[in-house]
This record gives sequence, C-alpha cells and structure tokens, in this order.
Amino acid sequence: MKSKTHKQHPQLVADWQTLMRTFIRPENEATRSTLVKYMEQILFGLHDFLGDHVGITEEASLKELAGQFTDTRINRTPEKKLADVITDLIEDIAPHAVNVASPYFIGHMTAAIPFFMVHLKTIVAALNQNVVKLETSKVVSIIEKQILAKIHRLVYSRNDDFYAEHVQHTSTTLGSFVEDGTLANITGLWVARNKRLYPRPGFGGVEQEGMAAGLRAHDLDRCVVLVSRLGHYSLRKAGGVLGIGNRNIIGLEVDAENRIDIKRLKAVIADLNRPAARTGIIAVVGIAGTTETGTVDPLPELGEICAAHGIHFHVDAAWGGPTLMSDRYRHLLAGIDRADSVVIDGHKQFYMPMTSGMTLFKNPLSMEAVVYHAKYINRPGSVDLGIRSLSGSREASSLILDSALKIMGSQGYAILIEHGIETAEKFAAEIKRRDDFELMTPPQLNVLTYRLNPHELRGTPEKKTTDAERLNDINKLLQRLQREAGRSFVSRTTLTLPAASDTDTVVLRCVIMNPMTTPDILNEILDEQLNIYRKQILPDLDV
Ligand SMILES: *Cc1c(COP(=O)(O)O)cnc(C)c1O
Repeated sequence: MKSKTHKQHPQLVADWQTLMRTFIRPENEATRSTLVKYMEQILFGLHDFLGDHVGITEEASLKELAGQFTDTRINRTPEKKLADVITDLIEDIAPHAVNVASPYFIGHMTAAIPFFMVHLKTIVAALNQNVVKLETSKVVSIIEKQILAKIHRLVYSRNDDFYAEHVQHTSTTLGSFVEDGTLANITGLWVARNKRLYPRPGFGGVEQEGMAAGLRAHDLDRCVVLVSRLGHYSLRKAGGVLGIGNRNIIGLEVDAENRIDIKRLKAVIADLNRPAARTGIIAVVGIAGTTETGTVDPLPELGEICAAHGIHFHVDAAWGGPTLMSDRYRHLLAGIDRADSVVIDGHKQFYMPMTSGMTLFKNPLSMEAVVYHAKYINRPGSVDLGIRSLSGSREASSLILDSALKIMGSQGYAILIEHGIETAEKFAAEIKRRDDFELMTPPQLNVLTYRLNPHELRGTPEKKTTDAERLNDINKLLQRLQREAGRSFVSRTTLTLPAASDTDTVVLRCVIMNPMTTPDILNEILDEQLNIYRKQILPDLDV
C-alpha cells in the first residue's frame, strides 16, 4: 500500500470547536466546497473506480493484508482528516476489497447495483430515521407499510379491498423488514413455532413459557421443520435460536431436478404425525431458488400438503422472489401465494445495497404471535413497527426499495431478471458444447453448476476411469487458482447428486445477475479455466 496512508498529522486535536463542525453545517464556503468535492468522490469516484477495474481484486495475500492491520489501540488524538480518510478508502482499501460489480464476478448472489442505489443509501443515512417507532420516523414508517403491501401484492395478489383495509391498518401487518434473509427466515419460523405451540388452558404459549413448557403442554417430545436438503443454513440457525434444535431442521432428499421429493415428504409427514412419534411439525419450507442450484421446489404441491395437514407453509424466496416481476418467468414461482410466510431479500434481486430482507405474511394477523410492547415506545395501537419485528432499531431501507421501484418499475426489474435467466441458459448450452466441461445442474432460474471434466481424463474402455475424488480435487484447485489470479470469480460447492451416490461432487457455481455479464465474458471465463488447468494443474497430474 502507498505510504501516504501513513501520513501523520501531529497537529490534529479533538476539541469542542472542531467537534461542533462535524455536527453542524460547515461555516464558510471553502469548507463547504471541500465537503462537496469529497461527496462527489464518494458518489462518483468509487463507482468509476469499480468500473475501471474489471478484475476482482488486487493480488495480495490475506496473510500480507492481515499483517498490515494489527494495531489494536484507539488513538487518543485524531489520526487523519476526513479528506485523507476518504482518499485512503478509495485508493488503498477499495482495491483490496472485492469488486463485486465486475461482470467477471459471477460466483455469488452479490453483484453490481444500479448507480442510484448509492445516492438513495446516502439519503437514508443523512435522514437517519429509526423505523423502530413512529416518534423517530413518522412518514417513513407509513411508507414502509405501503411498500410491504406492494410486495405482499406481488406475492399474494389479494384484491383491492384487502389492501385498502390493511395497507395502513395500525394493528395488522402484511410483513416485516429485517436486515437480511437469515433474520427474515427466523422471523417466519418464529411465527410458525408460536402458532404450533399455541396457548392452551394452563399454558400461555411458547413465547412466554419457553420450549420445555410448550412441548409438555402439547404432549410432544420435539418439534421439527421439514425442508429439502438444499435448504439455506439460516434455517438451521433458526432451529438453534428458536430452541427447536438445528438437528430438527430436517433436510429431505431431492429428486433428479434438485427439488424436494414430494413422495418422501408425504411419507415423513405421515410418520411424524403418528401419535407415538410425539413430534410437532412447525413448518414445511419450500425454496424458491435454492442458494446452490437456483432450483424451485414444487410450491403448488407443497401448499396442498401443508393445507391438508394444517402445517405452516414457509417459502424461502430470498433469492427467487423478484422473479415474480417478470411476466415471462413468474410462472416458475406458481403456488407461492399458498405460503403462510414468504422471505425475499432486498440486497439480492432487488439490487439494493447491503443489507435488506423481508418476510411477508399471508394473514395480516400472523405477527400477533410475536408482538412486543415497551412502556416508552411501541405502545399498543400505535404504528410503531418495532412492535412486530425481530429487529430493534433499524434503518429505513424500505425507502430505498420504494424509490428503486419507482425508478425501475417492475418492468425494469423484469428486464434484469430475464437477462439473468436467459444468459444462464446460453451459458449452460456453451458448457454442454465443450467437451472439457460438464453441466452438473442446469439453470432453472439464473444459477447453474458445472465442473471441469477434461476429455483426456474421461473414462474410456482403454483408459482408467478417473475417480471421482481426483476430479473433485482438480475442481477445488481450479476454483482456488482462478480466484487467486483475481481476474474472474466463480464459486464452488459440494453437491450430493443422485447419479453419483457414493461420493459428493465438487462443482463450480455460477450466479448470473450482473446485466453486464455477457455470453462472451462467460466464454472467456471458461477459456481461462481451461488454461489454468492446462498450465498449472495438468503438468502435475499422473494421467
Ligand atoms: C441468500 C439466501 C438466504 C440468506 O440470506 P442472507 O441475506 O445472506 O442472510 C436464505 N435463503 C436463501 C435461499 C438464500 O439464497
């Protein structure tokens, strides 16, 4: 890193006057123009920087970087002026962060965001509203109720009368904003748990009395949540946090298309519902876009099963939810309106800046199961959003979503979603066309997995079949070498594929959400992988 990072300002002191200047408007034109200059640098400079550096990150090992950040003391006097801090962040820190905006960064569900999101985020920070209560947010809480109703309508399409009644109703809620998909899943299962272990004579409900009393009152030994094996690990966290136990978040087998095996689910429910099993089923979770393969569970069937057994149906659409805005692909999520609760992330396919998640509830009274009041805020009957929310103090990220939807329209989002799905299809076709690669899970939405399976290693009658372990090792190494080279990034995961039952299969995972990612770029990424294999892996192989 450049030495200017360590420029000293021995004259800096923190005194009352300088502190006041950081709270109030700058007192003269000179200071004002300096601040405007820095703001411009933040709003445009960082963005230009990300655009110019197509690569993912600069070559510097984590060890090297860690060595530069070992100072554990807070300086007594100020170290730097605002100008220097901003320059450091943009010139020295950003290059060693990850350029998630690069069109070559196709490994994760984090990518480029529209330019205006940074501006909206700045406004939200400047207003500094706290939507935990009306007294610190006023109209912003009201707007949040409106945007929740808009997303609710996207999912459930209830009629005008329904939304007219509930959009600003002070004692019902159509959903809840939280910071991410993890908290949103916990929110959904929190409600489901409290519904399942409902109050009975002599038992005030699980929220008040805890799990042990809840199980006793309901004559159960345990509670479970059923989901496919591809469920996000946040569901297991929910199991831990809610006292269900993460072992009781049961991952069921998937079919050949990586969707929950319906036959198996029916059998498991029948088994758990035997009185002798002494098990309460809190929820069945359908996934609308699994994190690893992007596949969507058969939501209509899941909805039907849950309705038949009176089980809470939770849909984790953290990733796939915004697909509903595309007329061309919304059918992929058909049946989502049967869900009792639905999770959608804002910072994924709503292209919001980190972080935002939400849970929608079909029944506007569902969140009564998790109501909390406090004497100084969140009084009964008020609009205080903190009454029904896992979070306490919270930024008004709903304002960003509301504004973004105005700027983009559902049509704008649809274009992005459709680009992702269709580019993923083209990429899948290209992978299939090449004889050194193998498509492992075809895209249903905009996520696919594949692996390098070099033709010279493929089993033929004359040659030894390459064992699965070796292919796994090659793909692991390939992914690491490509990441370390810093030009492009594809992630890696391990799947239990029905076809290869004895060993798990290491696959490369690709998520296409950046509208700047083109088929040509994807071709380049495959070429680079083949090159890395030929130059850095093949020479050491015993073929
Ligand atoms: C990303 C994701 C989550 C968790 O979201 P975070 O925002 O990372 O907490 C949950 N479920 C699915 C299917 C996801 O893709």
